[in-house]
Amino acid sequence: MAYVITDACAKCGSCADACPMELITEGEDKYVINADECVGCGSCADACPMEAIVEE
Ligand code: SF4
Ligand code: SF4
Repeated sequence: MAYVITDACAKCGSCADACPMELITEGEDKYVINADECVGCGSCADACPMEAIVEE
């Protein structure tokens, strides 16, 4: 199950640091997960202070 980042993202960068696969990059309006490679570990969601990362 892949995770996705919603518009609640405040672009703090914590999720990018938390992903063991380094799948999260800074997008134009929010951070973005490479869903094709996401293993669904949930580390990014746990690290997000805005609760902006949800299971797809
Ligand atoms: S669920 Fe895990 S593998 Fe997928 S983007 Fe988040 S930290 Fe990375
Ligand atoms: S941790 Fe949450 S608020 Fe911070 S960049 Fe990632 S999705 Fe956005």
